[in-house]
Parts: sequence; C-alpha cells; structure tokens
Amino acid sequence: MHLKTLTLRGFKSFASATTLSFEPGVTCVVGPNGSGKSNVVDALSWVMGEQGAKTLRGGKMEDVIFAGTSGRPPLGRAEVSLTIDNTDGALPIDYSEVTITRTLFRTGGSEYAINGAQCRLLDIQELLSDSGLGREMHVIVGQGRLDTVLRATPEERRGFIEEAAGVLKHRKRKEKALRK
Ligand code: ATP
Ligand code: MG
Repeated sequence: MHLKTLTLRGFKSFASATTLSFEPGVTCVVGPNGSGKSNVVDALSWVMGEQGAKTLRGGKMEDVIFAGTSGRPPLGRAEVSLTIDNTDGALPIDYSEVTITRTLFRTGGSEYAINGAQCRLLDIQELLSDSGLGREMHVIVGQGRLDTVLRATPEERRGFIEEAAGVLKHRKRKEKALRK
C-alpha cells in the first residue's frame, strides 16, 4: 500500500485544484517559506479524518477553506482527495485503488466519500484503521518537533516510540488503575 495522489481544491492556500503524485518510497516537498508545504501535510491529516482545528494550525475548522487573497475572492468549500494504491489489499475493500474524499462547506455542512460514494466519517476511520493509517495510527512529526526528538533523553524517546506504537494510552490507563 502506498499513497498515490493527493488533490487539494480550495484547501488553505490551494485555491485552484492541485494534484501531487507520490511514488513508492520517500517523498520530499521543497519550497520557499509560506509556499504551502505544511498546508499539504495538513491536507493529508484532514482527508484522513482529523477533527482538531488546532492540529491543522487553525482556530476553527472553516479556516481550512481558501480565505481569499487581494486578487482572488474566498471560496465556499474545501475539498481534498487522497488516492491510495491498494493492490496488496492492505485496506479491507475490494478495490486496487481507493480514493477518500472530504469536503467542507463554508455554510457548515461536510461530506465524506469512498471511491465517489458518499459515506460517514466512521466508514473512513474504519477503512483506514487496520492499515497503519487513520486516527492515532500514522505519525506526523510537526515543524520544529524533529529537534525535540533528536535532543530527547532516552526516557522521552521511549515515550515517542510508545506514542507512535499506540501503547502510551494503555500504559496511562494502567498507571491510573494502579493508583486506585
Ligand atoms: P515554512 O517553510 O515557513 O514552514 P510552508 O511552506 O510550510 O512555510 P504553509 O504554512 O504551508 O507554508 O503556508 C502558509 C501560507 O498559507 C500562508 O501564506 C497563509 O496565508 C496561507 N494560508 C493558510 N490558510 C489559508 C487559507 N484558509 N486561505 C488562504 N491562504 C491560507
Ligand atoms: Mg511549514
């Protein structure tokens, strides 16, 4: 399984439809400050179901919709599509290619779709959750966080690994139970 393409339409600074294609392996996105690199990463989190506006570096969810510039009026909706190569069947769905789409309207409504068929957020979360993607499964190291990781003490580093592996919440639960 690998990510094939990411298409942004009216998402943050990407007013016009923009498609990024990824090959298997490591992908680097380079560009000047403010050119939208972090916005691409935000789009990836968002389409996979991220619900926290702060995680997306905004105050409210509506902030992901293109807000307009001096030469271009604001848009009424943001839409992001992520196409995943599923030839190895890592996603439990009978398609070799899976496209998930999330749309948010400035009027407040939001829509989700799998391969063009409208669905619930829960369907997307369930589709991704067994594959190492989706909520609390993939890991995005935010800007400036790499230093924190590199300078961490062995104990802190263990915490990061536990968080990435998803065991931190279980350990916290265990500690809480033992305190009682
Ligand atoms: P750096 O190298 O400094 O980290 P970057 O390439 O990661 O920069 P981003 O943070 O992705 O840059 O993009 C910031 C730009 O996106 C800013 O110019 C900001 O105005 C613009 N932007 C963010 N949200 C919106 C929005 N809703 N509508 C229009 N533009 C937006
Ligand atoms: Mg950035």
